[in-house]
Amino acid sequence: MIHFALRCEAAAHDFDGWFRSGEDFEGQVSRGLVTCPVCGSTEIAKALMRPAVSGTRDERSPAEASRMMAALRAMSREVRANADYVGPAFAEEARKIHYGEADERRIYGEASPVEVKGLMEEGIAALPLPPLPEDKN
Ligand SMILES: [Zn+2]
Repeated sequence: MIHFALRCEAAAHDFDGWFRSGEDFEGQVSRGLVTCPVCGSTEIAKALMRPAVSGTRDERSPAEASRMMAALRAMSREVRANADYVGPAFAEEARKIHYGEADERRIYGEASPVEVKGLMEEGIAALPLPPLPEDKN
């Protein structure tokens, strides 16, 4: 099913329609089967506004990529602001918290890929944080 934002040509009423395909939509409109729910007009067209389509990685615009990076950095900052920094002891501390040997709290620190893999195998969620620009000094 495809969702179209529709508009009646007569009075510019906006409404939504669901169709099997673009051809199905055209066919129903040409046979007068699509009517405006407000005024009953059969002069229906797709509204100019179109829903966003997520492209493939290759088509992703630089602006979108930088927005995503900004969102990741914001998440990274949020974690750093609200979690305890435990440095290279991250894996050890995460285990202590997981097994109730330390107070339950949010932590972040450094861990090797092997350590992170080990934590995940024990069912301990460890998320990699993207580096921040201020880290590179
Ligand atoms: Zn209408």
